[in-house]
Amino acid sequence: MTLVPFDDRDGLIWWDGELIPWRDAKLHVLTHGLHYASAVFEGERAYAGHIFKLREHTDRLIESGRILGFEIPFDADAIDAACTRVLEANGMTDAYIRPLAWRGSEQLSVSAQATRIHLMIACWAWPNLFGSDRMKGVRLGMAPWKRPHPETAPTRSKAAGLYMTGTMSKHEVETQGFNDALMLDWRGYVAEATGANIFFVMDGALHTPIPDCFLDGITRRTVMALAHKRQIPVIERVIMPEEMSKATEVFLAGTAAEVTPVRQIGELSFEPGAITHTLLTDYEALVRMNPDAVRLALAA
Ligand code: PMP
Repeated sequence: MTLVPFDDRDGLIWWDGELIPWRDAKLHVLTHGLHYASAVFEGERAYAGHIFKLREHTDRLIESGRILGFEIPFDADAIDAACTRVLEANGMTDAYIRPLAWRGSEQLSVSAQATRIHLMIACWAWPNLFGSDRMKGVRLGMAPWKRPHPETAPTRSKAAGLYMTGTMSKHEVETQGFNDALMLDWRGYVAEATGANIFFVMDGALHTPIPDCFLDGITRRTVMALAHKRQIPVIERVIMPEEMSKATEVFLAGTAAEVTPVRQIGELSFEPGAITHTLLTDYEALVRMNPDAVRLALAA
């Protein structure tokens, strides 16, 4: 796979209210966000020109910043409009959208009260996190790192710093030939993958861990609503790693991953089955609807 470096591409990036040429969107090296991980971000997808659940992503971005103690200097309407504007300015209808807010360079110490908060939004084509492997099912290895206690890290924030152990875990299992890492939490309960939530089919019902120390993903909640519509029971509960062998199907859910079947976790093998297929198809249909139709489709 040839990687086109992210700093050397054509296009426009929205930065603090202006669209600027992609290659000019550079930061000074003495930026607080870089040294102390004082940054929060979102990952969104546009399908056929509509950003799926845009307001939910924007609200989470603002809340992620507040959890880290800063206020993004744009309101939700302005951020929504900027996301749509950057998509249009790049002539894209189907894309991944990445807003990022960070502390600037006015102060470079643990205390950062004087820093200004910045916001940028970029978008690029990103067909699926797992590419062509996805429909066969992806292979998960067990992560060497655990999701922390909510008093150890701001686990409800989509904070850049929380991805450090995700990258370390993913690298570790990639060297063993897996596609992604399954992370347990600090208690040893099944938590999530490095960038997506996890679901298990057991006895015809959907089982998923309680998101009390990791993101309650927007895709996760969407999949639960879709399952409800199909009268598939959904059970949020503590899931121990030993129970995973009882699952007949497993899948991941996340904005970048969408609904992706899992065919292996460590030594265990699974087949992508009927429930995964139904929810994957329902999700693909839903994300391509316009926002009003999405609201109607998910209404109880
Ligand atoms: N967990 C992690 C660690 C993630 O990075 C993501 C992707 N944002 C998710 C779960 C799924 O969240 P969402 O469905 O809102 O994209």
